[in-house]
Amino acid sequence: MNQNLEHWKRAAEYLPGGVCSSARVNRGLDGPFYLSRGKGSKVYDLAGNEYVDLCTSFGSALVGHAHPKVTEAIHQALDMGFMCGYENEWHARLAQRIAETVPCVEMLRFTLSGTETTSYAVKLAREYTGRPLLVKFEGHFHGFNDYLAYNYWPSPGEALPQITPAAAGLPECLQRACIVLPFNDFERAEETLVTRGEEIAAVILEPVNYNSGTILPEPGFLQLLRRLTMEQGVLLIFDEILSGFRTGPGCMQAAYGVTPDLCTLGKAIGGGTPLSAFGGKRRIMEHVAPLGKAQHSGTYNGYLSSIMAGAAFFDIIEESGFYEELLRRSQRLYDGIDEIMRRHSFAARVQGMGARFSFLFGPPAERDRVRNYQDLLDNQWPLFHRFCRACLQHGVYLHTMWHHGISAAHTDEDVDRTLEGMEAALEDVLAEGLDAL
Ligand code: PMP
Repeated sequence: MNQNLEHWKRAAEYLPGGVCSSARVNRGLDGPFYLSRGKGSKVYDLAGNEYVDLCTSFGSALVGHAHPKVTEAIHQALDMGFMCGYENEWHARLAQRIAETVPCVEMLRFTLSGTETTSYAVKLAREYTGRPLLVKFEGHFHGFNDYLAYNYWPSPGEALPQITPAAAGLPECLQRACIVLPFNDFERAEETLVTRGEEIAAVILEPVNYNSGTILPEPGFLQLLRRLTMEQGVLLIFDEILSGFRTGPGCMQAAYGVTPDLCTLGKAIGGGTPLSAFGGKRRIMEHVAPLGKAQHSGTYNGYLSSIMAGAAFFDIIEESGFYEELLRRSQRLYDGIDEIMRRHSFAARVQGMGARFSFLFGPPAERDRVRNYQDLLDNQWPLFHRFCRACLQHGVYLHTMWHHGISAAHTDEDVDRTLEGMEAALEDVLAEGLDAL
C-alpha cells in the first residue's frame, strides 16, 4: 500500500484527486486504488499483489478483464486502420444483433459514455413528444448530465420532498424540468402521470435500482408505469446502462416482461471498452437526424475497437451455459455472504439480482422490505467502508459504492476465496470494535 500512497501523491499533482473520474476514490482507503493490471477475475496492485475483483470495472467487465475474444476483436479493429469518424459493415451488424436480442430495440445509435447516452435519450423524448418535463426516481443514477442529476444519493436533509441537484453547476431553470418521485410508490406515480401527463416527455428509471441498494421494482410497478405512460403519450425509458445483460441477453426488460419505448445500454455491452447505445421503437428513433430533427452526432460514436469488442461480447454471452453459470455463481456468493453475516450476528446482508449486488449495512439490513432510497438513508457507510478496507487486506477488492458484482471469469474457487476473505475481514472489523471509526 506504500506504493499506492506514493503514486497517489504524484497523480494528485496533475489530476484532481489523483483520478480521471471522481467516483474512483475509494473511501475505505481515503484515496484511489491504483492497479498495475487486470486479468479475468483478478486485479493486481502496483506492487503486484493479487485481488479477486468485485468492482469489475464498475460493471463493464462482465466477461472478465482481458477476455481473449475481446482482445482479439480489438486487434482486428486496429488492423482495419481507422478507429472513428467512418462507418463500416460492423456497426450495422452489431446494431442488428442488439435489435434481435433486446425487446424494445428496433433501431439504435451508438455512443461512448452512459452520461451522454441518457442525455441524448431524454432530448429525443422531448423532441418526439414536444413536451418539456422529465420524471425520474430518487436514488436512480443516470450519469452527471444536466437534465437528470437530481436526488442521486441525497443526505437525509436533502432527500425528498426536497429536490436536490447531485452536482454543483446545474442551472436552476433545468431543475423545474425534472420531477423526482420515490421508486415503487404506486400512488405518487399515478397522481403525477394523470395530473401532469400532458407536460411530461418521458419517465426514465433503472428497472432494477442497482445504484441504490439493488432495489427491485415491486410486482406491478413497471407494469403500472407502462400503462400510465401509454395512456398519457409519455415515453417510458429504461436506463439499462448498468442493469443490461446482468440476468440474461434480453436485459431487465425481458426479465420483467415490460417493454419500454426507449432504453439505454452500456457498460457490459462493450466487453470493458467504451460502448453505449440508445435505442427503441422505430417510430421514435426515426426522429433522429438525418431522418428527423433530434440531433445525435459525435466524432467518436461507434468507435471501431468498441464495436468489435461489442461483437465479441455477444459471441461470448451466446456460448452455451454462459448465464446458467454466471447466475449460479452469483447466487452462491450472495448466499455465502449472508450466511457469514448471520453466523457472526452482524446486521448486514446482500440484495442481489443476477450478476450484481449491494451490501446493506445496519438498519436497512434488518428491514424485510426495502422499497426505495428513503429506506436506505440510515445505511451505515463508515462501517461498510471499514469492511471494504479490511477486505482489501484479505485479497478481495470491493469499491466503496452501492453496487458490486462478479464476471463470467469468476470461478467457484474465486467465490470461495472471496467468502474466506470477507469472513476474515468481518472478524477484523468486529475485533477492532464497531465504534472504532
Ligand atoms: N446510467 C446508469 C444506470 C449508470 O449506472 C451509469 C454509470 N454507473 C450511468 C448511467 C453513467 O454511465 P457513464 O459512467 O458511462 O457515464
